[in-house]
Amino acid sequence: MRTPIIGGNWKMNTDRASAATLAEGVLGAAALHPGPEVVVFPPFPYLLPVHEVLRRPIIGGRTVHLGAQDVYHAEKGAFTGEVSPLMLRDCGCTWALVGHSERRHVIGEGDDNVNMKLRSAIAAGLSVILCIGETLHQRETGDTNHINERQTRLGLREVSPEQLTRIVIAYEPVWAIGTGKTATPNDAQEAHFHIRRVVADMFGQDAAGRIRIQYGGSMNAANAAALLSMPDIDGGLIGGASLKAEDFGAIIAAAAARR
Ligand code: PEP
Repeated sequence: MRTPIIGGNWKMNTDRASAATLAEGVLGAAALHPGPEVVVFPPFPYLLPVHEVLRRPIIGGRTVHLGAQDVYHAEKGAFTGEVSPLMLRDCGCTWALVGHSERRHVIGEGDDNVNMKLRSAIAAGLSVILCIGETLHQRETGDTNHINERQTRLGLREVSPEQLTRIVIAYEPVWAIGTGKTATPNDAQEAHFHIRRVVADMFGQDAAGRIRIQYGGSMNAANAAALLSMPDIDGGLIGGASLKAEDFGAIIAAAAARR
């Protein structure tokens, strides 16, 4: 049984005070709905204040994990504006996102770059969510499975089976992110099933059965239960609906009910 994982990607939102308040709300929701693993991804400047909130003990000893929205592949040096995996760990992060669609399509990151970031973060001891997904044009031209396969294979290149245990894949169709349009549960399931087959081809059936694949793209309190009821959907990566503790809490509750 794969433990569901719910991630809140706050993107470039919140300020220092509201980030701390939101983190408190997420802690409360995680305490109320035990079961799923919960991770929040605040903007870089608020990692430390959010870490201060998340270290507080909550009922049952449960934890909300701290993650970074991006990471650089080098350890240190002349890389103005970048943040290394070791710096993230020093600030309390245990997770990092790589390959988010906004980094791929707004900032222009390619698969090689995403793979370097993933391997460097994993080598530094972080767990990683590798984001993949097709654009609307790619979906309309029937390329969904092909794109997901390519991004999975290139993203996981030179990853060892042991390292794979610290990786989650987030299938996030680009056309569904921040648009209010959600993949139907069946369409999402079909994509997840295919991605799991690619992992099986790369790492074997056991590893494919263990890896968690989240859905992301306008998941919210109203549609979470239907998406999470699909056999290959192991959680959600949530943007907009993660900015309100109540909505995010409802998604955590849906994931807890699924178990
Ligand atoms: C995301 O940022 O990964 C995301 C899925 O955003 P939203 O939930 O707003 O579509």
